[in-house]
Amino acid sequence: MVSRVIPVENFDLVVFGGTGDLARRKILPGLFRRYAGGHIPDAARIIGAARAEMDDAAFRAFAGAAIAEFVDEDKRQGDMVERFLAHLGYVQIDATGERGWDRLKAAVRPEVVQAFYFSVAPTLFGELAERLHRFEIARPDARIVVEKPFGRDRETARALNATLASHFTEDQIYRIDHYLGKETVQNLMAVRFANILFEPLWNARHVDHVQITVAETVGVGGRGAYYDKSGAMRDMVQNHMMQLLCLIAMEAPYKFDPAAVRDEKLKVIHALQPVHPDEIVRGQYRAGRTEPAYAQDVDNPASTTESYIALKASIANWRWKGTPFYLRTGKKLRARASEIAVVFKEVPHSIFGEAEGWRENILSIRLQPNEGMTLSVMIKEPGPGGMRLTEVPLDMSFAEALGAEGADIPDAYERLIMDVIRGNQTLFMRGDEVEAAWAWVDPIIAGWEARGDRPKPYDPGSSGPEDALMLLHRDGRRWREIRE
Ligand code: NAP
Repeated sequence: MVSRVIPVENFDLVVFGGTGDLARRKILPGLFRRYAGGHIPDAARIIGAARAEMDDAAFRAFAGAAIAEFVDEDKRQGDMVERFLAHLGYVQIDATGERGWDRLKAAVRPEVVQAFYFSVAPTLFGELAERLHRFEIARPDARIVVEKPFGRDRETARALNATLASHFTEDQIYRIDHYLGKETVQNLMAVRFANILFEPLWNARHVDHVQITVAETVGVGGRGAYYDKSGAMRDMVQNHMMQLLCLIAMEAPYKFDPAAVRDEKLKVIHALQPVHPDEIVRGQYRAGRTEPAYAQDVDNPASTTESYIALKASIANWRWKGTPFYLRTGKKLRARASEIAVVFKEVPHSIFGEAEGWRENILSIRLQPNEGMTLSVMIKEPGPGGMRLTEVPLDMSFAEALGAEGADIPDAYERLIMDVIRGNQTLFMRGDEVEAAWAWVDPIIAGWEARGDRPKPYDPGSSGPEDALMLLHRDGRRWREIRE
């Protein structure tokens, strides 16, 4: 299969926070992979910016070490890494200070695409935006990329939007949600809108319910202090999971373009109904045989923050009225698995009577690991013995189906950074979308805070609290098994 990558224009990308964890694990290795793939022009430049005292050589050494750690060896052949590192430079700068900005101005070329990646704490976004503007570094069509979290409620998100808007227009702002950069997530749109097959069934008449699961095996790790102020609802549901829900539930945009796609997602968020307290289960992992409990991990014995959440969301529109969307996400669960499962209704009448082994059709969209889709269908069990039914998967593993090219699925970050350079905002969240998502989430959080709700404990390595099972049992349904 011939690669049809649209080449990007020449660019200068400034990575504020270029020495941080995200730059080290995702941004720099991702840029290198794009370079190795031949997608970065020869004259492009990547400029790290942070307070640490460093020269270009030290930053290149830092990036080289990150690439050695996070990029497969077969991609680092020959002098590829050296050649990539030659594109890198560094400017020492304090987002809150006045020094260094003239040097940055001299380093950024006015005649190429300019992108500024804010890979720093969100409290610095305003300071950076203001200085890029005041020091006349950013051109009127320069792009800024902002990381999550985008606010911690609607009010703070609105204030952040207003701050950014005082220096940049909406079409310059790229709010990143790396879930939207995943291959499968985009394939979800391709499957829905480039095939006639699913659309007639994609509604409450034929879909019984939808399950969206993002399960992690890790705990809060080194992010304890941040996570304890956030919790699963703010950290996962308000952004990643709501984006997935939107892509499943939205109407066909009239065109695959940023305004059209984001308008349709926004309509879904507006149609989300308030969630009744009985339809939310919050959990917190307890200590395992050898592992510490959540409260120890975050060093807060009295913590009431959730490391797990399950909830039932309802969308009040013609397409989805009556089809619940069950969302669950948590840490220290039994497997690392992210999946969207569209569970179809039973056939209206079984001509096979009470056939054993009968199951509903499920379209399962795996985000990680092994990105791909599976459609479970019923067939006759082979061999003699009458009409016995069995379920088989119609498997569409992208890596297998697309051969070598499919196996080389780009990481979400690298794809999204290239979209920034191309000036394509389709896979980024618009300001009104983020605020609308918070508007749905805020009353849910306010509700449990007012009730003094305490999360239910669950065992590490389990599927989450028992009550989460009941959430579906009550509706005569059950969660899909969490497995890799
Ligand atoms: P980090 O490891 O703490 O790195 C922060 C970076 O910002 C460092 O390069 C630091 O370098 C720089 N910095 C701090 N204060 C600065 C200042 N006043 N002026 C200029 N630079 C400054 O943080 P991170 O994990 O990379 O996260 C960066 C952003 O990405 C955050 O918004 C975070 O929420 C978001 N994010 C991170 C991840 C992840 O996996 N790490 C995932 C999702 C979102 P100096 O100290 O030398 O200045």
